[in-house]
Amino acid sequence: MDPRPTPPERRIYCNRTLNLRSIRAIGYDMDYTLIHYHVEEWERRAYEHIRDRLAQEGWPVAGLRFDPTTVTRGLVIDTELGNVIKANRFGFVKRASHGTRVMDYDEQRHAYSRTIVDLAEDRWAFLNTLFNLSEGCMYAQLVDLLDKRMLPGTLGYADLYEKVRSTLDAAHMEGRLKAEILENPERFVVLDAETPLALLDQRRAGKKLLLITNSDWEYTSPIMTYAFDRFLPDGMTWRELFDVVIVSARKPDFFTAKGPLFEVATEEGLLRRAPFGLREGAAFLGGSARHVEEHLGLSGDEILYVGDHMFGDVHVTKSVLRWRTALILRELETELSAIFSFRPDERELEDLMEEKTRLEDELSDTRLALQRAEAGYGPKPAVSPSQLRERFERLREEITALDARIAPLAKASAELGNPGWGLLLRAGNDKSHLARQVERYADIYTSRVSNFLFATPFTVLRSPRGSMPHDPAGD
Ligand code: IMP
Ligand code: MG
Repeated sequence: MDPRPTPPERRIYCNRTLNLRSIRAIGYDMDYTLIHYHVEEWERRAYEHIRDRLAQEGWPVAGLRFDPTTVTRGLVIDTELGNVIKANRFGFVKRASHGTRVMDYDEQRHAYSRTIVDLAEDRWAFLNTLFNLSEGCMYAQLVDLLDKRMLPGTLGYADLYEKVRSTLDAAHMEGRLKAEILENPERFVVLDAETPLALLDQRRAGKKLLLITNSDWEYTSPIMTYAFDRFLPDGMTWRELFDVVIVSARKPDFFTAKGPLFEVATEEGLLRRAPFGLREGAAFLGGSARHVEEHLGLSGDEILYVGDHMFGDVHVTKSVLRWRTALILRELETELSAIFSFRPDERELEDLMEEKTRLEDELSDTRLALQRAEAGYGPKPAVSPSQLRERFERLREEITALDARIAPLAKASAELGNPGWGLLLRAGNDKSHLARQVERYADIYTSRVSNFLFATPFTVLRSPRGSMPHDPAGD
């Protein structure tokens, strides 16, 4: 028996077997990885910053409000048509909205029946992290205004996306938003006493820990102090957890290019050149993954990187450096609890669908027998054509009655997680585009860093045997 049963929401899920004993160094992203924010609060403020900047330029946006359910992580913005879409693992569009208006089946089919979403094309913008919720919501609402010809100039949908992007970029970079967070961290930061403990365990188990964040020093230092120091042993600070700290890392370029490296020489963030590379116990700005590998004397599968950004933290790290990767997907917690409370209904839905499949098979057999009987070919049926016709009608009625029972359950199932978009990792009956990326690029995924407490630094995380449609079903 497992002495420490881990609730499903807090488990570490494994795509490729990972022996934590053989991991020598662990790099951590900061925002939404080591530090979790109240998403609604943070994204509302980010949204308001975009809105207020646009209002200053004379856009009629003062009445717009942030709605955290408009988009989810893993959706894709179609900047060509002004749509938000959910694609499945093959890139087929399964749901779409134009601006905030949900597209009906025919409209969606018309727009996308010949389209496969390929994120390498400029047309698509993938919502990689929780930081993208403000931008997705604002874009959808502005598309509504653009269609009503309420926006100034002659903007297209793609120009509009660029405008939202650059305005959000400016809000993130300019510092006022960050200053608000620092003034009032208790409003924005979700404290988790177990995260520093999980890192202490790893450090004491001999692993080198690194912090690699795109945030700047002026933000990183106070926010880490706020969220970590209170939970560390007396006198210890967050700095002592990490072998090396790297701020303003410019991920994903950090993982692919060789940027210049500077040392953060004083607490105020004064910089000096760092021609000799990284140094234990110090903090740096910029640099690259090559500096990290050189400093550690490690490479590839000896290093684990943990982050929340599907592309910037996980995809690039895996495909370029072949580091081991972990994706932090906080939404798993609410989604798994929704999935579990829906379990009885889901089972009923599965039973009804099984019954429907059986009736549909019988209906098809009857129809074929009728076709043969009427045309006079093939084996002679045991019953007369009129009896076949009667059976056909009866089966049709039974299926209609069954559909009426299935519909509300199927609807509720499709609305789990988010009423418009459903669960993050599912698209209809299939896996979502996000799920496909998680499988490909994240060796493991979990809702938060402190879930490593359940795994310990000495655990072998084993992937389940792969499942294909022909594999025998097992529950
Ligand atoms: P990290 O997750 O620790 O690497 O830090 C993410 C940093 O990127 C934070 O400082 C965010 O404010 C910043 N950030 C997030 N989204 C955007 C964006 O759209 N534009 C510019 N900066 C962003
Ligand atoms: Mg992050």
